[in-house]
Amino acid sequence: MDNETKINMKKILVIDDEKNIQVSLASILQDEGYKTFFAASGEEGIEKFKNIRPDAIFLDIWLPGIDGLETLQRILAIDPTQIIIMISGHGNISTAVRAVKQGAYDFLEKPLSLEKVMLVLKRGLDFRQVLDENVRLKSILKESKTDSKQKMKGDEASSDIAFDLDEAMYSRKQKTIKASNIFYGLGLHSGEKTGMVIKPLPTGKGIRFENISVSGYIPAKIEFVDTTSYATSIRKDDLEAKTIEHFMATLHAAGITNLAIKINKEVPIADGSAVPFCEFIRSTGVQEQDEFIPEIVITETLLVGEETEDGKFIKIEPADRFSVTYTTIYPEPLGRMTYHFVMNSFEDFEREIAPARTYGFVDELSKLSQMGLAEGGRIDNFIMIDRGKVLNTELRFKEELARHKILDIIGDFYLLGRPIRGKITAQKTGHSENVRMINLIKQTFADI
Ligand code: ZN
Repeated sequence: MDNETKINMKKILVIDDEKNIQVSLASILQDEGYKTFFAASGEEGIEKFKNIRPDAIFLDIWLPGIDGLETLQRILAIDPTQIIIMISGHGNISTAVRAVKQGAYDFLEKPLSLEKVMLVLKRGLDFRQVLDENVRLKSILKESKTDSKQKMKGDEASSDIAFDLDEAMYSRKQKTIKASNIFYGLGLHSGEKTGMVIKPLPTGKGIRFENISVSGYIPAKIEFVDTTSYATSIRKDDLEAKTIEHFMATLHAAGITNLAIKINKEVPIADGSAVPFCEFIRSTGVQEQDEFIPEIVITETLLVGEETEDGKFIKIEPADRFSVTYTTIYPEPLGRMTYHFVMNSFEDFEREIAPARTYGFVDELSKLSQMGLAEGGRIDNFIMIDRGKVLNTELRFKEELARHKILDIIGDFYLLGRPIRGKITAQKTGHSENVRMINLIKQTFADI
C-alpha cells in the first residue's frame, strides 16, 4: 500500500470493552480498507476521538466508567456532526433509540453481521458527506430561502415543517417532482373518465389532494380519513379524495414528501396495480429538496387484533428498516399466501409490489354495485375471485393477493405524513385495521 492510499483511508474508532467485538469489527473494517482504532472505556474513547478525529465511531451502550449515552453526549458536544453508530445488546433497543434521539446516527444489534455493519457504516459516511455539503449549500442558499419563507407567509405557515441540521439525524431529504404532469384513467367508483394533475410543492408542505371544481385542499393525513370500505378515502368539508392508496404507496416508495394532486374526487384506478403510477412518476422525475424530514421510529411493539394462526391482526415492531410481511387466507386452491417485502428502494417496490392488482369476490360484487362502488371495476382492472378460484386472469405472481395487501399497507401508512422505520406483520386485514394501527402509532408516539 502506498502512502497516498494510507492518507485517504477513512478512520474508524471502536469504543467497546468486549474483546470479541473489537476483534470481529477490526477484521471486518480492515478487510474493507478502513483504518481502525480502539478504546475500552468511554474516557479513553473521548481522548482518542479528540486526537484522531475519526470519520465514524462505533460505540457500545454498556461500558465501564461513563456509559455509552454519556460518552455520546460528550463527543457530540465537541462535534455535533460526528457519525456515531451505537452497538446495543439484545433487548436494549429502547436505549439505542434514545441514543439516536440524542444524536447518534444509527444503531446495530449484537450479534453483529458483516453485511449490516458495512451497510450502516457506508450510509453514515455518505450522510456525513451530505451534511458537509448542506452546510456549504445552506450558506449559499440563505438569502433565497429567506425570500421564499416570506412568500409563504399567511399560507398556513404554522403547519410548515422546518428542520434544522441538528435535527437531521434519522432523517431523509424531502422530495417533490421536477415539473407538473397529468395522468388519465377511469375512476373505480364512478366508472367515469377522470384525470389527475400533479404539481411540485416547496419543502414542508406535505402531500395534499385538491379537487378540480372546489378550492382548498385536503392534507393526505390520517386525521382526514373518511371511509375505508374497499378503498381509502379522505375528506375535508366539501373536498374529497377517494381510492388514494395505490398512488400514495407509489409516493411513499419514491420518497416524495411534498406534492399537490388535483383530481375529480377520485384517483384513477389504472390497471388495478401501481405500475402505471410508477411509470408516471418516473417520466415526471423526482426532485430532491434542501430540507430534511424525520422518520417515525417505532420503539415498541403495537398490535391490533389477535395474533393467532388464523387470526386477523396487524402488528408493528422496532426494526432498522421499513418492511411488511402479509398473509392472505382464502379457500383452496388459493389457500394461504405470504409475502415479505423490505422497502430498500423504489426499484424493489416497482418490481415486487407495484404490479400486484386489486382483487374482489364475485359475491361482493353485487354488494359493491348496490353501494354505488366498483363501477369502474371492469374485467381488466380487477382480479375476480369466486370460491377460491381466479376467474378472469392469470395471477402475475403466485402470492399476488398478499403482495397487493402490502401495496395497500404501504399506501395507507403514508397517511402518517412521514417515512416510517419499523416491521409490520399482518394477516387477513384491510384498510380499516390499517387505519386503527396508524391511529395507535399516532397516540403512542405523541410527537407525530
Ligand atoms: Zn388496493
